[in-house]
Amino acid sequence: MTVKFPEVWDLEVLFPGGSNSKELRLHIEKTNSDLAELEQLAENFEVPASEKDEAAIVTMLETVKGIMQQLNQAGSFIGCLQAQNTEDKKAAILQSEDAVLNARFQTALQAIQQQLAKTEENVWKALLDSESLKEFSFVLNEWREEANMLLSEKEENIITSLSTDGYHGWSQLYDMLVGDIKIKMNIGGEEKILSVGQANNLSSDPDAAIRQQSYEKMEAAWTDKEEFFAKTLNSIGGFRLEVYKKRGWDRVLQEPLHMNRMKQETLDAMWGAISKNKQPFVDYLNKKGEMLGKDGLDWFDVDAPVTESTQQFAYQEGAEFILEHFGKFGPELQKFAVQAFEKGWIEAEDRPNKRPGGFCTSLPMTEESRIFMTYSGSMSNVATLAHELGHAFHSHAMQPVHPLNRSYAMNVAETASTFAEMIVADAAVKNAQSKEEKLALLEDKLQRSVAFFMNIHSRFLFETRFYEERKNGVVSAERLNELMEEAQQEGFAGGLKSTHPHFWASKLHFYITDVPFYNFPYTFGYLFSLSIYAKALEEGSQFEEKYMALLRDTAIMTAEDLALKHLGEDITQQAFWEKGIALCVKDAEDFNALVSSVG
Ligand SMILES: [Zn+2]
Repeated sequence: MTVKFPEVWDLEVLFPGGSNSKELRLHIEKTNSDLAELEQLAENFEVPASEKDEAAIVTMLETVKGIMQQLNQAGSFIGCLQAQNTEDKKAAILQSEDAVLNARFQTALQAIQQQLAKTEENVWKALLDSESLKEFSFVLNEWREEANMLLSEKEENIITSLSTDGYHGWSQLYDMLVGDIKIKMNIGGEEKILSVGQANNLSSDPDAAIRQQSYEKMEAAWTDKEEFFAKTLNSIGGFRLEVYKKRGWDRVLQEPLHMNRMKQETLDAMWGAISKNKQPFVDYLNKKGEMLGKDGLDWFDVDAPVTESTQQFAYQEGAEFILEHFGKFGPELQKFAVQAFEKGWIEAEDRPNKRPGGFCTSLPMTEESRIFMTYSGSMSNVATLAHELGHAFHSHAMQPVHPLNRSYAMNVAETASTFAEMIVADAAVKNAQSKEEKLALLEDKLQRSVAFFMNIHSRFLFETRFYEERKNGVVSAERLNELMEEAQQEGFAGGLKSTHPHFWASKLHFYITDVPFYNFPYTFGYLFSLSIYAKALEEGSQFEEKYMALLRDTAIMTAEDLALKHLGEDITQQAFWEKGIALCVKDAEDFNALVSSVG
């Protein structure tokens, strides 16, 4: 019998004393002086002239590594302090201190990267072939490539300084505009004033009239301010396109594809495979409409609950459920999770003043992780816990890898988490005690598929089309509504009775300036993980070794090479993507069959 797992995490072993920790203070001071050393090094760093500069580069990389580890250790710890107690004012101060250190680190690193980029081709090749630098060739090539994609240092500095007000300022204005909107709702005869966030939460309200009212009130608010949102979106898009033009980047997707280390063909294959397989999800949406007593499904009913999972698990039970099913996939995953539960790596207690949501953060210096969430006993909590454990397992698998080779991109970041969550979500469906329970769990999975295959697809279609039209001038609010409705019709394959024309105004993701095309990497990650899961189902627990080898390599090769090396798959072909989609199609078919059989 397993010992009882703690529900509160242990942060004391990292830095004793929370936000008053003397050890943390010392750690920050050390980082501060090490950073000064790096800044000095960056200032004197010269363009490598011959193979003899190998040693200087190794020294530089070791310094960069050391500081990176220290910054991550402190940053993760401070993030944990803030999450566990939102009233911890000292933690907030520590966080801004940490942000300053991080910015200094980035600046110094960029200066070094600029110098490396200037290395002559034959010298560069010889350096990367050397014994001590071979291991870093992917990362170093990427640094060099990125620096070469940019304009001169002077020109890039001008862009960076102008973008504070001319680019990021628009994104902040968007947040202000949305923050200023108040939604007047009539709930149960009482008038309530809600923020956009609160009104959005009503999209899954069990009462159909409330869902519809909140949608209509919000749509009216977006319509009322549409000119402001159109101006904001056009300004962000215009700035981005102008920078791309100056740098000589002719495709809007060049930057996001590069950031995700993937090819255009891969993205096309993914959407192609998804587009071909939408019918079962359209059938599911229609079935859902029927269950709600309607003829077809409206936009505002997509998140409506049709059945409810009522099964409850005490924390210990939830943990044991996870461990049991992890064990079927591999001994290492199970062993790792036991350790995370036992050693107090998880903060799950349901108490006030905790931040909402969940995350997993890694502490590279002590080779540990911490998981944060609020566990209240639902199956969805159990799945979240498994998801975060998956992230921690990814860090665990990468431990043998040099810290500079651990920065994986957004599209593969959710591989291990989705994989772990799938194990538990599938087991839960099989374990369901009643048809109602089974339907609720299947629906939970299907809602994810609809979000990734239909909703995010429509965002992608909208965004690419908007950027194409923006190249020729400002796109009017009226045209943005048209583009959005067309994209939703196509993304949902006509599966909705009504669309959401002002979705482009309501979705924060279109206004994020730090990450362009924020959405498609999530669909990639979900399907990539599902394909690996499909392989694991085929091969059984012996697959684990291959799986861990894949995770280890997530930050040192392109997405295409990763899949080819570890899965023997060509992800530029639709056939690869169809394997993951097939699992989701099965969910839809099971759901549709089960609904028909419930009397
Ligand atoms: Zn995640």
